[in-house]
Amino acid sequence: MPSEFPQSLVRPAIRALAPYSTARDESEGGYDVYLDANESPYGASGLNRYPDPRWRSLRAAVGRQFDAAPEQIFLGNGSDEAIDLLYRVLCTPGRSNTVSIAPTYGMYGVAAAINGVEMREVPLKPGFGLPADDILQACDAQTAIVWVCSPNNPTGNAFPLDQLRRLAEAVPGILVVDEAYADFSGQSLLPELVRFPRLVVLRTFSKAWGLAGARLGMAFAHPDLVEYMCRVKYPYNVNLLTQRAAMQALGEPDRVRREVALTVSERRRVAEALQSNLEILDVYPSDANFLLVRVADAAATYRSLAGKGIIVRRRDNLPMCQGCLRLSIGTPEENNKLLQALTTTQQ
Ligand SMILES: *Cc1c(COP(=O)(O)O)cnc(C)c1O
Repeated sequence: MPSEFPQSLVRPAIRALAPYSTARDESEGGYDVYLDANESPYGASGLNRYPDPRWRSLRAAVGRQFDAAPEQIFLGNGSDEAIDLLYRVLCTPGRSNTVSIAPTYGMYGVAAAINGVEMREVPLKPGFGLPADDILQACDAQTAIVWVCSPNNPTGNAFPLDQLRRLAEAVPGILVVDEAYADFSGQSLLPELVRFPRLVVLRTFSKAWGLAGARLGMAFAHPDLVEYMCRVKYPYNVNLLTQRAAMQALGEPDRVRREVALTVSERRRVAEALQSNLEILDVYPSDANFLLVRVADAAATYRSLAGKGIIVRRRDNLPMCQGCLRLSIGTPEENNKLLQALTTTQQ
């Protein structure tokens, strides 16, 4: 198994915590008569029983799909739960700090503020490159977590694995690499998880796996860190309907592969079409399922598209994103409507 996890990285109050144990944590299943959890025995909906708090079958299936040991896998109510739990497990409010790139996914900063943790934002290099040296310089002895999203939301680019490996070795606390869009980039640090005991890789069922409405996120990490996250989470944090939906999706990897391939080919087609559109000043290279584009007047283009029934994401208030809109890649028909609408705003 992996090398040693430094327990000193865990917030003392959490290290001292005795985990809350549910009736179902203590039983391994396989009984005939369940009279341990005060549930209704009448189950027309099939939902009368509590879900497995340790998600045993789903965790095993996720492990097979992503080639990880069950003990390395945390499952949460979206990646957002894992993000929040990492703060609660690793940071002491008013004392720890955390470092992220900018611009990036907003949730790292929101969760830092909620948890009373200082967020230090390090601007990307021109061209959206990873500022590895600046990140390390922003860290000090109180830096508990460094957040890097790759491919990055909203810029769309993936950072070279070599640079991420270097950070995984050099940051003082935990490096979290959020790979929510890795299915579209074809590169991941996940196969190397065991080499880096202080690395956490986040993945999600919300994007390529098509289950945003079910809320299921994954954190892959050293088993000790996963165990601390499990101590802090709500006992039944992934509901039964979600566990079933994810099991079903994991049984259809070929469908997901086809959808990812279509999205990647549509991404290329839409990018090329936008490059020859005079209103689009820049189309940034993307390794994800969206394109960041720059226009002269983001508010005007946004309003014009909205007037035609197409909603996109304004990102023009973020650092380095002046005039930028983020366009998700839809079905070929939806993408045609977007391209058509953008052509006619030119007149
Ligand atoms: C969409 C997204 C997620 C997914 O969050 P969920 O809570 O799992 O839906 C995570 N990280 C980034 C950067 C995202 O863009």
